[in-house]
Amino acid sequence: MANLPQEENLDPQDWEATRALAHRMIDDMVDYLRDVRTRPIWQPTPQATRQLAQQPLPEGPSSLEDIYADFQQHILPYTKGNIHPRFFSWVQGTGTLTAALADFMASCMNPNVTIGEHAAMYIDQQVIQWAKEMFGFPASAGGILVSGATMANLTALTVARHAFEPNIRPQGLQAAAGRLCIYCSTETHSCVQKAAELLGIGNEGIHRIAVDADFRINLAALQHQITLDRAAGWQPFCIIGNAGTVNTGAIDPLDELLAISRREGLWFHVDGAFGALAGLTPAYRHSLQAIALADSLAFDWHKWMYLPYEIGCALIRDASLQRAAFALQPNYLLSHERGLAAGPDPIANYGIELSRGFKALKIWMQVREHGIDKYRRLISQNIAQCAYLSQIIEDSAELELLCPTTLNIVCYRYRPTQGHYDTEALNQLNRELLMRLHEQAVATPSYTLLHGAYAIRVCIVNHRTTRHDLEVLAHETIRIGREIAASSTPAAL
Ligand SMILES: *Cc1c(COP(=O)(O)O)cnc(C)c1O
Repeated sequence: MANLPQEENLDPQDWEATRALAHRMIDDMVDYLRDVRTRPIWQPTPQATRQLAQQPLPEGPSSLEDIYADFQQHILPYTKGNIHPRFFSWVQGTGTLTAALADFMASCMNPNVTIGEHAAMYIDQQVIQWAKEMFGFPASAGGILVSGATMANLTALTVARHAFEPNIRPQGLQAAAGRLCIYCSTETHSCVQKAAELLGIGNEGIHRIAVDADFRINLAALQHQITLDRAAGWQPFCIIGNAGTVNTGAIDPLDELLAISRREGLWFHVDGAFGALAGLTPAYRHSLQAIALADSLAFDWHKWMYLPYEIGCALIRDASLQRAAFALQPNYLLSHERGLAAGPDPIANYGIELSRGFKALKIWMQVREHGIDKYRRLISQNIAQCAYLSQIIEDSAELELLCPTTLNIVCYRYRPTQGHYDTEALNQLNRELLMRLHEQAVATPSYTLLHGAYAIRVCIVNHRTTRHDLEVLAHETIRIGREIAASSTPAAL
């Protein structure tokens, strides 16, 4: 038995020294979150950070102290900023300390939450149960936690496709009598295109229907298109309703879409990535009530539930259809009656992925800590903040709303009161203005184009934002807008 190599592992060599460092990391992060408002929301990534990111694969070890020092010096300060109260870009959530601690503990436990008799399987099921309660789905419905709404939409559309033509599983798309198609508005998120492409439906199988002035799907055009398509041999199988579009927060007329789906025998899916959460509030319960009757829903926990990345969810009204679309029983994944291989039906039977982390824990801890009523208030607060900002814009001679504010998104631009600016000049001016807002670390709205007009776009899924932050944004938009207008003629922009 001589000459056997010394056996190794990846645990700390010195547990006490690592414990002290771990305590420092926690202390640093608690301060980091407490003081978020005092730091610049964004700054450019310096050369040193980019260089650090180009170092090759390390052959040997480094001390954890040094690695942590690099993290603090080169990574932490140059963050995206979405935990800051004046972060308004895209649709990006903020996270919380509680959930970050939950992620740490989930990683320490590190269960693979796909199969087996262990607590995480039950907590995963419990938060799905909570999601059903939140959206009025029956307790018998199915659901699954995934990385985000992209995966949730893909999961739901896979079930919808299978419910329409079960033979697609064994035979592929040849099993369908004609080309499959899906209906949704032109404002639908691009992840639906990815899903359609992956499902073999193709981008041309997405029949995008025009929207009205409020960016909501035109129902007459939809009905007309379905009739035309059927006559032409298409196989319509699904309508997607938007509960909050990413551009403007528009909510499609979901009751009417549901009725058309029922009449036409089509699956009704709702992409409610963030907007579905507004249904928790009394003010939006009515306009979002059809979600409770939808065949499936995609939403994100990492947007308007303020949880850290990545976590989304698909709910499927008929759990047996969800299972039928995904279940496989390889010999190595068969459940037993007792022991570790017992437990609930493997989660892999309900979705695309096999290995899954314990992401349910952060939901479980954060939602328990605050209760869903606090969420109602926070979501209402964000909606009220957008109404407040919209009012400031309407009251200002230099600011202009570019679409109705119906939810938690405000699209506006700066318009000088002097001089003639056509659309192109206004677009250039506002694009420059947005970059200066970012560079001067005032706030980080994003942008979009609405009927050709460049819009500064504010989306609030941020539990730290206050009305004062929006006053600052409006005030600074005007200050910078005047500065740009004063330093250049419209033609020079
Ligand atoms: C964010 C978003 C998505 C995509 O969700 P991810 O979590 O980023 O994958 C889809 N639809 C809408 C309406 C969204 O806002």
